[in-house]
Amino acid sequence: MKSFLVDNNGYYGEFGGAYIPEILYKCVEDLKDSYLKVINSDEFQKEYRLLLHDYVGRPSPLYYANRMSEKYSCKLYLKREDLNHTGAHKINNTVGQILIARHMGKTRIIAETGAGQHGVATATVCALMNMECIVYMGKTDVERQYINVEKMKMLGAEVIPVTSGNMTLKDATNEAIRDWCCHPENTYYIIGSTVGPHPYPDMVARLQSIISEEIKKQLIEKEGRDYPDYLIACVGGGSNAAGTIYHYIDDERVHIVLAEAGGLGVETGQTAATIQLGKMGIIHGSRTFVIQNEDGQIEEPYSISAGLDYPGIGPMHANLAQQHRTTVLSINDDEAIAAGYELTKMEGIIPALESAHAIGTLKKLKFQPDDVVVLTVSGRGDKDIETYLNYYKK
Ligand SMILES: *Cc1c(COP(=O)(O)O)cnc(C)c1O
Repeated sequence: MKSFLVDNNGYYGEFGGAYIPEILYKCVEDLKDSYLKVINSDEFQKEYRLLLHDYVGRPSPLYYANRMSEKYSCKLYLKREDLNHTGAHKINNTVGQILIARHMGKTRIIAETGAGQHGVATATVCALMNMECIVYMGKTDVERQYINVEKMKMLGAEVIPVTSGNMTLKDATNEAIRDWCCHPENTYYIIGSTVGPHPYPDMVARLQSIISEEIKKQLIEKEGRDYPDYLIACVGGGSNAAGTIYHYIDDERVHIVLAEAGGLGVETGQTAATIQLGKMGIIHGSRTFVIQNEDGQIEEPYSISAGLDYPGIGPMHANLAQQHRTTVLSINDDEAIAAGYELTKMEGIIPALESAHAIGTLKKLKFQPDDVVVLTVSGRGDKDIETYLNYYKK
């Protein structure tokens, strides 16, 4: 049977692979040879699951959202990744990757970050494991995301501002790759989403798959069956969505809805709607859809939500979209803000702006009253309060 999971060569259909400079070949090859062995070992599983339970606070609740269910005439459950330690799903991945790094004998951790959420999640597990931590961050983002920079420093990480290009996430990623090329022996690169060269997209998806593993068990308890009719998640690079759908990806009974950031509107040029606008290209070691101009230059994406403005998209999601396994909706800034306020007012949950994009899809979908809908709230909105408040002042 055709599967939407990765094939033996690191591809999802036409997407994925490992397009890397010669000097990284051995690093990526070592990781490829190790990651499944490590992840499937009893020792890793024991430590990973203990940390997820006692440190991250898992399992995250599956909450039946009463008022929102009534409003959208369906049975709406929220998967509460916002309740995790450090406030989002990203910690599931960094906890797993730091254990893999340790198993591989690496002592120095590097990471890229945009808004700083992945940087904080990486600095957190480096403090936990007493490992050296260097985070590359575009200079523009360093200035925009002052609190996260201070958090990373407080956690013991060195934050290096990147001044190339537009000085944002894409440039920080390039710089992290450059560092990795210079220190392949002792350095492990923790990528923050289901992007990058194989095996990263598959590895990150597996480390986030705890989300759908829990959904299965929780749905049996609440609904007497282990699958929903709809799964909804936002996509930046795709990791919270990958975790949400992982154990249902080949189950055609389950509709998958992905929300990407429309920014000011798909046709305005101020957007991060990569699946809808992107063309096949190579970004950060992976063959996937990329927002690019006619010369193949990567264009700067825009979204009100810093976690969604990546000009690429994970190869798993590109393939799901191309094969029509998923519905992709783009949610604009104004729709996301309104959805964030709605969840706040109706359920008392202030979602991250990224997650608000997922909530924004509810208005655009037609449900049957007994449809079971599971929507992942990828993170909490504390970091976005200023943006929420300032939006209507403009
Ligand atoms: C980083 C982030 C995202 C986007 O990343 P994915 O890899 O697509 O999940 C979404 N929500 C929150 C809260 C984030 O911090």
